[in-house]
Amino acid sequence: MQRRTFIKQTTALSAIASVSAKASNSQNVAKFPVVISTWKNEKANTAAWESLQKTGRALDAVEAGARIPEADPNDTSVGYGGFPDRDGNVTLDACIMDEKGNAGSVTFLQHIMHPISVARAVMEKTPHVMLSGEGALQFALSQGFKKENLLTETAKKAWEEWKKTSKYEPKINIERHDTIGLLALGNQGEISGACTTSGLAFKMHGRVGDSPVIGAAVFCDDEVGGACATGLGEFVLKTLGSFLIVELMRNGKTPQQACEEAIMRIVKRYNYKEFQIGYLALNKKGEYGAYAIQPGFNYTLTTNGVTKVYESASYMK
Ligand code: ASP
Repeated sequence: MQRRTFIKQTTALSAIASVSAKASNSQNVAKFPVVISTWKNEKANTAAWESLQKTGRALDAVEAGARIPEADPNDTSVGYGGFPDRDGNVTLDACIMDEKGNAGSVTFLQHIMHPISVARAVMEKTPHVMLSGEGALQFALSQGFKKENLLTETAKKAWEEWKKTSKYEPKINIERHDTIGLLALGNQGEISGACTTSGLAFKMHGRVGDSPVIGAAVFCDDEVGGACATGLGEFVLKTLGSFLIVELMRNGKTPQQACEEAIMRIVKRYNYKEFQIGYLALNKKGEYGAYAIQPGFNYTLTTNGVTKVYESASYMK
């Protein structure tokens, strides 16, 4: 089982210091265009940034960013190379939302390397928001996506190893959940968001998490900003975290305060010591926030063409 390599505490502290220095108040601010993504996803941010240089559109940027881990066989929680469910099937969830309030999503999609692009096609080419399973696959094929085997040898070996005990226990900050969620402000300052995942490793067949659910894993409103989520999706679903964060920002909270409040809603009601949730928020002014239940959540920010990984603050110390 591979772990994410977390940046060392010292690097994190100096990185946080350099960001804080730029902030106009206690809230971190980035100049748009800006890209922010969950976890250590520098390559994804770089692709998103390059896309912004070409089209300037936040929607193109978040899609381009999401496609990077989707195609990376070494990323075991997204797309190709993602760990399978308990029956050995790689099943994928993704969603995308633009500044006009358009949204598209796929759930329980198999054999397609880029679910985020299928989600975008659902948004742009169908009257629907969400397509699932076989229907999503048929739609993807009709749009020219290729059917592929997404189970790599490494993921297969990990699954075979897991089958020896078949113990289902998601671990905090461990590679069983490391979904990418992205938010971007485009050249016109418009907001878009995306999320893509292979979901929890060794989940029940048919399990769908928060990642394809608009309002749970991603929500954007161009009057306010956007939010995205990672972690044990069941708790993001039960609290509709991203929608909540955007509404909190609408009502005057900073992105940082809104992320903290959304985490507190979980902490107050659930046995939060046993799982991780991380939230990111970005408002229209370029102010952003990050907060998680447990230490260990990090995020990648690109502003002024510079990409850096930062450690998020967390409820548990
Ligand atoms: N939220 C995702 C899920 O529950 C997993 C993750 O964030 O890594 O499917």
